[in-house]
Amino acid sequence: MRDGGVAVSSSPARRDDAALNEQWARVRARLQAEVGEVEYRTWLKQVALAGVNGDEVTVILPTRFLRDWVNKEYGELIAAFWQAENPDIRHVDIRTQPSRGTAPNLAEPEPASVPAATATVAAATSAPPRSELVAPLDQRFTFDTFVVGKPNEFAYACARRVAESPATPGFNPLFLYGGVGLGKTHLMHAIAWELSTRRQGAGPVSVAYMSAEKFMYRFINALRSQSTLEFKNELRSVDVLMIDDLQFLIGKDNTQEEFFHTFNALVDAGKQIVISADKSPSDLSGLEDRLRTRLGCGMVADLHATTFELRISILEAKASRAGVDVPAKVLEFLARKITSNVRELEGALNRLVAHANLFDRQLTMETAHEVLHDVLKAYDRKVTIQEIQKRVSDHYNIRVAEMSSARRARNIARPRQVAMYLAKQLTSKSLPDIGRHFGDRDHTTVMHAVSRVGELMGQDAAFAEDVELLRRMLES
Ligand code: ADP
Ligand code: MG
Repeated sequence: MRDGGVAVSSSPARRDDAALNEQWARVRARLQAEVGEVEYRTWLKQVALAGVNGDEVTVILPTRFLRDWVNKEYGELIAAFWQAENPDIRHVDIRTQPSRGTAPNLAEPEPASVPAATATVAAATSAPPRSELVAPLDQRFTFDTFVVGKPNEFAYACARRVAESPATPGFNPLFLYGGVGLGKTHLMHAIAWELSTRRQGAGPVSVAYMSAEKFMYRFINALRSQSTLEFKNELRSVDVLMIDDLQFLIGKDNTQEEFFHTFNALVDAGKQIVISADKSPSDLSGLEDRLRTRLGCGMVADLHATTFELRISILEAKASRAGVDVPAKVLEFLARKITSNVRELEGALNRLVAHANLFDRQLTMETAHEVLHDVLKAYDRKVTIQEIQKRVSDHYNIRVAEMSSARRARNIARPRQVAMYLAKQLTSKSLPDIGRHFGDRDHTTVMHAVSRVGELMGQDAAFAEDVELLRRMLES
């Protein structure tokens, strides 16, 4: 399964791992020179080399949005530069970091497949069309369908309040934060839906909702086409501006700057701003201080991790909406097993419901076990990098601290490489993430470790057995 492969023509494969890293470094340098510093830092810096398989290079990006964008805008360039470096490379496969070890149909749906209601929220009669500023709103994300419980009641109440009377002092900006899948986007869409039914002065309230990624994409595009003024005016003409997943702007200094000015202009003009992020303003390191200060000066509300009770309520609400009778025991089972993320909880339930509909069968604990076998397995086996480091250190009789030390003696470096290799295999952490756990090493070092260990396993049966043993111990 390739997503977004770009083909170039040429001859068969060659593998040479050390050379590969060097080639990649040169490809990056050429890309940087070609597209310029700003674009490079914005779009291409995060491209990481995942490996080579035959005549195909795989590179990875952290999000689907970036993947699609890089593929569309730079795919050919990357492929061409690769081929110039290494004529044996025939394809460049641009993909996203595989997500945690859950089943594919539990992953976040592709935006395109989400039932979308477009542009309903925009379009005040006299103003320019704003469809560009309104990402499709998910019809399911309304206040009605949001289940309220202790962990989210405060955030919910704030969102309600903003939807009822936008730009009330004390509630502007509204800053919603919390972990993945706890309902931030849901609440933002709910505010947007609610506001779309209201009027302000002559026309409907105009709401601009977009992810921070999209904001950046629009901004860079405006820079490119020298239409930043239009973009600014367009943004500043809305009544409510919502930016989802603000953490994405970390490190994107130009975009942050632009956002800061837009933000100020809107607040000064008495417009409402709603922001979401994965952390509180004070914990979002990497944001400019003045922006952080302004973000925190309205209402800051967090969505806490769900409780068992809330998960049960959510499941009950969703099952009843789907019109399927799910035994309480099965709901409890799900709520106990899947604790981190409502999206995954929902995914598991959807799967059960689909199964029940398909086979027209009553849902039981047996069917739940059967249908969710792979999901539950992924939940059972959640190995952390720390565990891996501990196991591997024990096994090779070295101190755990050596995993992060700078020492390069073989008897230390090899176990460290094995641990990096296992971290890549057994966790869904990205290469840079893994590197950080090993004394802040670069992702290319991790990549090298991964390929080196793979290579050694092919050459040395005893070593391979060792690594396999470690893997089995960690998996069990
Ligand atoms: P976030 O933006 O915080 O990552 P989302 O808003 O996308 O999370 O929520 C993930 C999924 O979980 C969505 O389908 C959403 O409808 C659902 N969800 C989260 N919290 C609740 C809740 N309290 N009630 C109903 N559904 C919820
Ligand atoms: Mg979200």
